[in-house]
Amino acid sequence: MSEASVSGLLFIVVAPSGAGKTTLVRRLIARTPDLALSISCTTRPPRPGEVDGHDYHFMDEARFDAMRKAGDFLEWAKVHGNYYGTSRRWITGQWAMGRDVLLEIDWQGAAQARGMFPDAIGIFILPPSLEALAERLRGRGTDDAAVIERRLAAAHEEIRHVDDCAYAIMNADLDTAYAQLASIVAASRLTLSCQRRRHPEYFERFFPSL
Ligand code: 5GP
Repeated sequence: MSEASVSGLLFIVVAPSGAGKTTLVRRLIARTPDLALSISCTTRPPRPGEVDGHDYHFMDEARFDAMRKAGDFLEWAKVHGNYYGTSRRWITGQWAMGRDVLLEIDWQGAAQARGMFPDAIGIFILPPSLEALAERLRGRGTDDAAVIERRLAAAHEEIRHVDDCAYAIMNADLDTAYAQLASIVAASRLTLSCQRRRHPEYFERFFPSL
């Protein structure tokens, strides 16, 4: 069976840092059954409060490189000077267990993942404005000024790739943005092909010719 024919949806959420993506995604994962968040591998050092195996699999460049060369990554990219990658085997494992998978990755990785899985559902989270984005990045207090400036410049670049995604959410209000994100997931799960995959006995019984 090819990877692309393994059942399960692949959601790819892209946003510049500071757009509120992590908060939205964590809430979605907590409230949505059978939706698993991929935990990326990264060479970035942990921020205060981040836990290995929960926020990221933190590793040095040598280990990341070995995994990359072994073909372990579905996609990988260098973002803000650090490497990030998504485990290919973990995703197919989740699908095999009947779960859908959500990736929270940058636009370069999203393009690679989409190349591999053209049915992946791209969702771009936009900040209400660039001023609001700068405000949020400064307010977070976890990165120094140089890092924030670099991330702001990267945000301009990232936002240029909004049209790679089928969906765009403007995160001016967290509850509204969350409801919109949840509705994209819910609607995606209700397509006929998805319903057929989730309820094969039903469709075979009533619509054997479908
Ligand atoms: P942060 O270091 O702030 O957690 O993430 C920085 C950027 O790296 C974000 O845009 C985030 O979406 C992206 N990122 C996180 N994990 C991955 C991954 O596995 N692959 C790719 N391509 N980007 C990732």
